[in-house]
Amino acid sequence: MIKAIYPGSFDPVTLGHLDIIERSARMFDQVIVGVLNNTAKKPLFSIDERVIMLQNVVSHLENVTVEAFGGLLVDFARIKGSNVIVRGLRALTDFDVEMQMAQSNRLVAPEVDTVFLSTSTEYSFLSSSVVKEYARYGVTLEEFVPGSVIERLKEKIAEE
Ligand code: ADP
Repeated sequence: MIKAIYPGSFDPVTLGHLDIIERSARMFDQVIVGVLNNTAKKPLFSIDERVIMLQNVVSHLENVTVEAFGGLLVDFARIKGSNVIVRGLRALTDFDVEMQMAQSNRLVAPEVDTVFLSTSTEYSFLSSSVVKEYARYGVTLEEFVPGSVIERLKEKIAEE
């Protein structure tokens, strides 16, 4: 049985992330979406908000769960009994960072492999940062994030 972890900030989850989650769910027996609680970053959404938004949008996938984690990704993988980390690749700019992360993770946890899924073309430019920027300037978001996330984004931006 192969259990994969798909880690990220998901601030907030986009259709690009959801595409990677759905494709991973077809490929692996179980997928744990790991939401990074990184105290060094200042996210728009709290860790609990990010987890709940993700849980809502993956509820149709029965082999996918969502959990918050802090600290080292490989430690989280070990605790969960997972040997596979899934990451999405959009462009060459992602490659450098992702390669470095995969190599350093392998140094500390050789039993854990990183699998890269290339973005679906329609999401190749899409990031959580772009979505937040669009939300602030009132750009229509239907093509970029799930409907439930649009509502939360609007509320959050209004609070700012
Ligand atoms: P991080 O802060 O770890 O980069 P993100 O939430 O930005 O977290 O992204 C999580 C993962 O999803 C990363 O591997 C990232 O490359 C991937 N990803 C983000 N947006 C897309 C997209 N539009 N298409 C494919 N993969 C994506």
